[in-house]
Amino acid sequence: MKSYAANEATSRGRRFDEPHASYRGEYQRDRDRIIHSTAFRRLMYKTQVFVNHEGDLYRTRLTHSLEVSQIGRSVAVALGLNEPLTEAICLAHDLGHTPFGHAGQDTLNACMRDYGGFEHNLQSLRVVDELEAKYADFPGLNLMFETREGILKHCSARNARLLGDVGERFLSRGQPGLEAQIANLADAIAYNNHDVDDGLRAGLLTLEQLREQALFGQQYERVHARYPELEDRRLIYEIIRRMIGTVVADLIEESKRQIEEAGVTSIEGVRAASGPLVNMSPPVYEQHMSLKRFLNKHLYRHEQKLEMTRRAQAIVQDLFNAYSGDITLMPQEFSERAASIDRTGRARVIADYIAGMTDRYAIAAHEALAGC
Ligand code: MG
Repeated sequence: MKSYAANEATSRGRRFDEPHASYRGEYQRDRDRIIHSTAFRRLMYKTQVFVNHEGDLYRTRLTHSLEVSQIGRSVAVALGLNEPLTEAICLAHDLGHTPFGHAGQDTLNACMRDYGGFEHNLQSLRVVDELEAKYADFPGLNLMFETREGILKHCSARNARLLGDVGERFLSRGQPGLEAQIANLADAIAYNNHDVDDGLRAGLLTLEQLREQALFGQQYERVHARYPELEDRRLIYEIIRRMIGTVVADLIEESKRQIEEAGVTSIEGVRAASGPLVNMSPPVYEQHMSLKRFLNKHLYRHEQKLEMTRRAQAIVQDLFNAYSGDITLMPQEFSERAASIDRTGRARVIADYIAGMTDRYAIAAHEALAGC
């Protein structure tokens, strides 16, 4: 590994001291703890873009996280960085996501407006620091500092002050380690590409529309010229795998160049740099952003999706109102926690409960309210 990779010998360590693992590195151990967590298994039934029961082949938060992880690992290895740490951050990055994707997150944030808001990124950290209750000696998963630093992608100054060590960089405008920077972009590359695939599969996007996007259009021309008879499904896969390959290769080459130019020799140098050093080149980044804007307009805001969004908003809002009115509607473990604290703390317990729900659990809980 390069000298500027995260390294357990110079790590800021865990919140609670533990003896070293016998046969694994500390970041491998973090990755294993994440995979064994309850929150990780729940990702299987949480929406990425399409609600889980809309079709068996669409991405869920779980398969999204796996795709992020494999892209992130490839980049980490190519840049001589810490692969297990990158994998751990990628697998954990969405652990705090609500049911129903962004519709759920935005509604819960609105419900929590007077109580500090709700942000899924911060919630991912809360899951690994506080909410997973599995170990006898400490709350949460007691992950390494660099893993936690990577999970917390963004954060308001107000929240940063409450978070201590892991929030510091948001106040001092420092950067996270390069493995966290990779996870951030691997996330963006994964969703841009798999959402094209899912959008085409759902019939909400068309090849004609997508051909106007440079990233897609260039690969379309190449694949079509070489395999003019290829049926649509294979054509689409062939284009998407080439799109991922192109962006990932650009990311690796551009990042190599920027890291060298910055002259960093340690993770502390990376943290003190004026900006992230893992980046796509400007022209590819522009194409990537153009595709992202396209998906935002034509897929995420598609009339058919908006209907699901409205229903998801109503479910989350109703659940929040019902539990706020009567905390005993929640399971005992949550109602007991909610009973012993002030209004703000109670709202946070309710948000934790709702955020932890899978799509179908939330739908069933909502139906159960009607019977009350
Ligand atoms: Mg994600």
